Amino acid sequence: MFEFSYSDEQQAVQKMVRKFVDKEIIPHIEGWDAEQHFEPQILDRLAQLGLMGICIPEQYGGQGMDYNTLAIVCAELERGDTAFRTAVSVHTALNSMTLLQWGNEFQKEKYLTPQAQGSKVGAYGLTEPNAGSDVAAIQTTAVRDGDHYILNGSKTWISLCDVADHFLIFAKTTPDQGHRGISCFIVERSFSGVSTRGFKHKLGIRAGNTGEVFMEEVRVPVENRVGEEGEGFKIAMSALDNGRFSVAAGAVGLIDACIEASLKYAHERETFGKPIGKHQLVQQMIAKMVAGYETSQLLVHRVGWMKNQGMRNTRETSLAKWHACDAAFNAAVDAVQIHGANGYSHEFPVERYMRNAKAPVIYEGTREIHQVMQAEYALGYRKDKELRRNLPAWPFAQVEV
Ligand SMILES: Cc1cc2nc3c(=O)[nH]c(=O)nc-3n(C[C@H](O)[C@H](O)[C@H](O)COP(=O)(O)OP(=O)(O)OC[C@H]3O[C@@H](n4cnc5c(N)ncnc54)[C@H](O)[C@@H]3O)c2cc1C
Repeated sequence: MFEFSYSDEQQAVQKMVRKFVDKEIIPHIEGWDAEQHFEPQILDRLAQLGLMGICIPEQYGGQGMDYNTLAIVCAELERGDTAFRTAVSVHTALNSMTLLQWGNEFQKEKYLTPQAQGSKVGAYGLTEPNAGSDVAAIQTTAVRDGDHYILNGSKTWISLCDVADHFLIFAKTTPDQGHRGISCFIVERSFSGVSTRGFKHKLGIRAGNTGEVFMEEVRVPVENRVGEEGEGFKIAMSALDNGRFSVAAGAVGLIDACIEASLKYAHERETFGKPIGKHQLVQQMIAKMVAGYETSQLLVHRVGWMKNQGMRNTRETSLAKWHACDAAFNAAVDAVQIHGANGYSHEFPVERYMRNAKAPVIYEGTREIHQVMQAEYALGYRKDKELRRNLPAWPFAQVEV
């Protein structure tokens, strides 16, 4: 059976988020972006609207909606600005959904529930100064000391670094075992030895918070280890199946914003005695945006459907993420082109779209990493093995505790 329409509930969520973005983000975003200001109240508002745990079961403080509703939320948020979609990607998809999949009941109660309610914020710390795509090269260590681990190291390019209450931190428990030596920990900002430092002067997502997390002799209780020792690489990768899905969904929203701005401008601006929308080469740029929007949307919702079914979706998610982020970046470049010199000015939003659209082509698997993955799947060099814990299928079943 194929279903291409949104349910009444999904339409209601879409309408609500659009209204919120139009009223509370779009009027302020140019100023926040120019001042490189992350507006923390937006997270409070997202929490009030139930958007910090939209696809987390009600049992754990969320709204219990399906995974495609998360995609709808991400697309609508990124129509306003990439910063706030990134916040939801990190908090909900990379952190909370990982706890839902891999956490034990203690961790779900203590960390997932307040995160899904939005009273606490979660982030995801994988990347290090010497390890981005090459995850196995991370150097942060976690050494067992009785009923604690002692963590030392640093993470970089961490979204929400100055805002998050809880971080999922990946560290080596057995440094000589490559990716098999990595474990995953819940680290609280309040733990002694944790400090953070936000970056300024990023190319884009300037209204977002991104930076470094430093850990010096941080004592993390053993009960904060997620999964088994040595299972961290698998956990990090399955987290990315959710994060990438949300990034791809956000890209759909960015293309939507590019189309909206470009159509308006193409109708209004005249050259050679007619609106520029009547010139075929301008039409070509708009046609490509529309094709990018539709194909990305289809790929994203297929992944959402697979998640709802409880199916493994690493391959499909990678394709959706690669395709949608490339399409969004191309759409933003063309949106600037359609605006001519005005596109080069902050008087129009398209220059911000173009700057913002670059990061998603880099984070959560660069374009090249996804191309390699797709080729390896096609060639038969890469196959997904069964995981010990799966993201629960939707509708969610009540878990007995
Ligand atoms: C705005 C922003 C927010 C971020 N937020 C987070 C976050 O919240 N948490 C987190 O953990 N990380 C985060 N990151 C980091 C991001 O995930 C990494 O930057 C990304 O994984 C790439 O790693 P790298 O920058 O070290 O690049 P590298 O891995 O050093 O890659 C450099 C270049 O080499 C190419 N390359 C590398 N290996 C291969 C290969 N095998 N084949 C072909 N080409 C290759 C890459 O595609 C790239 O072009 C964020 C990054 C940005 C920009």
